[in-house]
Amino acid sequence: MDGRITQDAGAEDAPAPATLLAGYQGLTGSFSARAAARGGRPVGFPSFDRLLRALTASEIDLAVLPAATRGAGAVLEPLEAIARLLEAGGPPLAVASEIEVPVRLVLAAPHGVAAPDVREIYSQTPVFRQCTKLLARLDAVPVETHDTAYAALRVAELGGTRAAVCSEEAALEAGLVVLEEDVSDVRPNTTRFWAVVRGGAGVEPEIRALFYSGARLAAAVADAGAEILALPGRADAPVRGFAVVPIRLLSKVSGLSARAAETFVWLGPAPDHVPPPRLKEAPRATEVRPATVVTAGAFAVGGGRRAVIAGPCAVESPEQVMRLAKAVARAGATALRGGVFKPRTSPSAFQGHGLDALRWLRDAGDSVGLPIVTEVMAPSQVEPVARLADVLQIGARNCQNYDLLKEAGAAGRPVMLKRGFGTTVEEWLSAAEYILAAGCRDVLLCERGIRTFERTTRGTLDLGGLLAARSLTHLPLLADPSHAAGRRELVPGLARAAWGAGADGLMIEVHDTPESALCDGPQALLPEDLEQLLDEFGLLPGPTDSVERVRRAIDRVDAGIAGLVSRRLALCRAVADTKRSTGRPIRDEAREATVRARFEEALGADAPNAAILADALISLGLEAEGWLPPAEGPLAGEKRPERRGPTPVVPPGPPTLPRS
Ligand code: PEP
Ligand code: MN
Repeated sequence: MDGRITQDAGAEDAPAPATLLAGYQGLTGSFSARAAARGGRPVGFPSFDRLLRALTASEIDLAVLPAATRGAGAVLEPLEAIARLLEAGGPPLAVASEIEVPVRLVLAAPHGVAAPDVREIYSQTPVFRQCTKLLARLDAVPVETHDTAYAALRVAELGGTRAAVCSEEAALEAGLVVLEEDVSDVRPNTTRFWAVVRGGAGVEPEIRALFYSGARLAAAVADAGAEILALPGRADAPVRGFAVVPIRLLSKVSGLSARAAETFVWLGPAPDHVPPPRLKEAPRATEVRPATVVTAGAFAVGGGRRAVIAGPCAVESPEQVMRLAKAVARAGATALRGGVFKPRTSPSAFQGHGLDALRWLRDAGDSVGLPIVTEVMAPSQVEPVARLADVLQIGARNCQNYDLLKEAGAAGRPVMLKRGFGTTVEEWLSAAEYILAAGCRDVLLCERGIRTFERTTRGTLDLGGLLAARSLTHLPLLADPSHAAGRRELVPGLARAAWGAGADGLMIEVHDTPESALCDGPQALLPEDLEQLLDEFGLLPGPTDSVERVRRAIDRVDAGIAGLVSRRLALCRAVADTKRSTGRPIRDEAREATVRARFEEALGADAPNAAILADALISLGLEAEGWLPPAEGPLAGEKRPERRGPTPVVPPGPPTLPRS
């Protein structure tokens, strides 16, 4: 069926598309019945579960359920019913459209009951949340019912000093008298109903809704600007809910996918990539402005965010790329690469498995929650590749292929531009201008080795050029040590050099059987080498399952700290010599205060007791400088350093110095 439903914003019920059966939960006269009438011929069901069962069994064409109200937000019961179905792996569902129904709530009671007499008010929970003023004023006890029309019937049946909050229509149908009109705090008050249809191919939803569980996904969806309809958490899924994603934000959310123990289900077909509207004014590459941060799903690079794109040179088979995706995710990479169209020096060399391989790459990336990066070689490849890839790569050979740059820049995806082997930094940045001018703000630059007279390496990684570019552009700069080196054994050293020089990210080729790789095997790192390298950079995967691995990272940090402390003590000894030869006192409390303040300022947010560390260092420094406490030593008259600030959690003790 066509998922589109005639919508009419007017308060009156629009004529129903007669051929469709629109199920709802509740009784005639309810707001749900009114919403359903806008979608088809209304058919009432006793519960939301029964309604959804009727939908999946094709007894009805659509199920109309309240999803959100103004003021009270998510309507939990119907959303829970949908969530239950999705969590149980039920058949696909889609939200074909939203039907917004104006809700005018009245207070109604049997004949003879006046408002001040009312002692019990019957209605639905979301309605009570919207009528707080009425409840406060009447001093009556709220009694919850499934729907407002039933509340009216129940009040009519029971009689007494009871009233219902319901639609005027339901009140009249139940034979009640309207005591007060418009009793809601929220004006204008509306409820948004979802017209839910059976999902699958052919449905073209008007709104894009999804179900998620997991804190990471919740944060990513909310960060993208989607509307969150949160559900109460459960022990096995503490953070879960639905999100409604406006079309203009779809491209930000379409790259997200579930990792282990998370759920991410679109209500309707997963959206194809939708290119965002073309920017009128993308900045120029060399404009002076804050660093550009390029993001794709969980991947972010630039402005202090650092990334590692890793994976095989070429996608060789679904199994190969799935294995390597797992390996690079485990190592801590933040994006997965893989060539599907390969620019090869010889036409008889392997040219890539094309769009089939792109689907294998996408599946592999999704299965580990990493965005994917792949090369486009021709303008005609841009559109089909941009549908699935998160980042488009322009290879070194195409750095100045201006038609390709323009096409890629208009695709609505971030573009990574590799520097050509014979391209100057200035020409490289000028090439980036083509991509920006085509409307793409998210351009990444990647230095991958230039052609020099040197023959021991495949290219010469031009870190000088990368640093020069840093002073000229706000765009993120990456380095690709793999293509620069051409030899595996040089890759870690070049990667460290680039990382140390402040590159925003790295692109590294990885293979688990490099001897049989179809492309660039000799330069591929083994997964374990990548893991070791990224450990050095402190780039661990998020919820890593290995305490040992994190401990190794801590050990490396400790070793660094120990080395620095030892260097600091050597400097203290040197300064003590100078002080003695110039007659200055060894202790300088003003200087100690500066040292303490520096630690407090640098660590304050992380460690409120940072002064403890400063005190310990000062104490060790005094010891190295040969300072002795005043009472016992020759430098009597100098005071012991006093600790300032809060009482430390673990007192390091005052300086205790050896007596000589
Ligand atoms: C690649 O990244 O696989 C590639 C072909 O790189 P380059 O264009 O830098 O040679
Ligand atoms: Mn390669």
